Amino acid sequence: MAETEKPVGVAVLGLGNVGTEVVRIMEDSAEDLAARIGAPLQLRGIGVRRVAADRGVPVELLTDDVEALVARDDVDIVVELMGPVEPARQAILAALEHGKSVVTANKALLAQSTGKLATAAEKARVDLYFEAAVAGAIPVIRPLTQSLAGDRVLRVAGIVNGTTNYILSAMSETGASYDDALAEAGALGYAEADPTADVEGYDAAAKAAILASIAFHTRVQADDVYREGITAVSAEDFASAKALGCTIKLLSICERITNADGSEQVSARVYPALVPLTHPLASVNGAFNAVFVEAAAAGQLMFYGQGAGGAPTASAVLGDVVMAARNRVQGGRGPRESKYARLPIAPIGVVPTRYYLSLYVHDKPGVLSKVASEFANRGVSIAEVRQEGLVDEDGQPIGARIVVLTHRATDAALSETVTALKELDVVSSVASVLRMEGTE
Ligand code: NAP
Repeated sequence: MAETEKPVGVAVLGLGNVGTEVVRIMEDSAEDLAARIGAPLQLRGIGVRRVAADRGVPVELLTDDVEALVARDDVDIVVELMGPVEPARQAILAALEHGKSVVTANKALLAQSTGKLATAAEKARVDLYFEAAVAGAIPVIRPLTQSLAGDRVLRVAGIVNGTTNYILSAMSETGASYDDALAEAGALGYAEADPTADVEGYDAAAKAAILASIAFHTRVQADDVYREGITAVSAEDFASAKALGCTIKLLSICERITNADGSEQVSARVYPALVPLTHPLASVNGAFNAVFVEAAAAGQLMFYGQGAGGAPTASAVLGDVVMAARNRVQGGRGPRESKYARLPIAPIGVVPTRYYLSLYVHDKPGVLSKVASEFANRGVSIAEVRQEGLVDEDGQPIGARIVVLTHRATDAALSETVTALKELDVVSSVASVLRMEGTE
């Protein structure tokens, strides 16, 4: 069977965490993969920067000439696992122009350039697959693209960044400060030396752009995604969240918003939010990822698993390689980019969510009513208020901390309320403003 079929030639670009595992699984599972595809996979070459004999693969497979590798006639599928946006963009475009199918895990590139890459794939009539770009091993791109193709996706809410989930889980479990939890994540290898892309939400925003594009058949880019990171989340916020029966998670949310006139918009946003402990996303801890999907007919679906790591990510990459190889052997192509809906992007100001606010106020009569009227003046309805008296070292009252939970309000109305609260003479500071998700 497979041995008599013409092999499918594969070029792997990158031999790092993921590339090494992809090459290993291709070798270890060669017979099974051949049987599933109907032809053997043949590794033609591996693109790296450092060509050397100590890299655990036959040195003759290694090359630093990526351009030549992707143009080889005996290469059918190019697997891009190099990382940075460049040179990956150039390499993928060159591969597509040469008629190769492409598999990539490069979310930063996809969130910037899906349109260009999809157009090039379309022109060459080849596959462009990227299951590993969002949530590592967890199948979420294919379920959204194919399994739910007959349904109407309403909302996708995911924990798609393991570093920040590790930090927030540590803060929740131990009461640690953000700085201490970040230091621990760094020491254990869960956070990079420069953690900006993770803790400021850029990585989660790139993944939100990819998910929103697929879920809503609309091109959404990283720049379209509203983004707040986790650096301002405090131990005090976690204590308040716990008292309210919640935890705090960095969420990537993609939502279909229906306006009063029936028209629709897409909201894509990333921020830390209070999540009730009863919500399935609340129990996703450590470096794990999960994506919660709500669709009109299917209802609620939860996808959970390892969102990063060499072998888990390689699993998703190999799944794409098998699909692309099958298409080569049997003829045909996978689904093309679907962007027919072309929904406008909703500005964050119009997006309604619930809010949690923590304020420090002076200990004076009438404080609560002054605070409450600033909410009421802007149509922001209060769901719950908690007040806690503060005392100094001698037990003398020095003010109070007020925690307010609102019903759903737009970002614009809430921002105006916060500005007005800061100007009140009875408010000494607005310590935190966080959204609350998963309650309605
Ligand atoms: P990595 O460990 O940093 O490996 C990158 C590899 O690319 C290295 O082998 C490097 O070669 C090669 N490379 C970089 N620039 C190159 C260039 N100009 N020419 C030729 N080769 C070049 O990266 P990784 O963690 O495996 O990640 C690969 C991709 O998967 C990234 O897009 C990442 O975002 C994505 N991803 C990773 C994970 C994960 O858990 N690691 C999860 C999901 C998605 P040298 O070895 O010679 O330096």
